[in-house]
Amino acid sequence: MECEKAGCESEATFELHIPWTENEYVCAGHARVRGRQEGVVADALDDADEHLPDGATDQ
Ligand SMILES: [Zn+2]
Repeated sequence: MECEKAGCESEATFELHIPWTENEYVCAGHARVRGRQEGVVADALDDADEHLPDGATDQ
């Protein structure tokens, strides 16, 4: 699965739970950026590597 962000071809390794919109599947870099917004939770997918963004859960 690729990152959903336009122009980004990185592997999606995080599911973002966003209170005001649908969940997004994004790469670690975009998860890090989005995870800084209040209320956004970044959940690591099973194939995520060690590049966990701040706020990621323990999956
Ligand atoms: Zn991305």
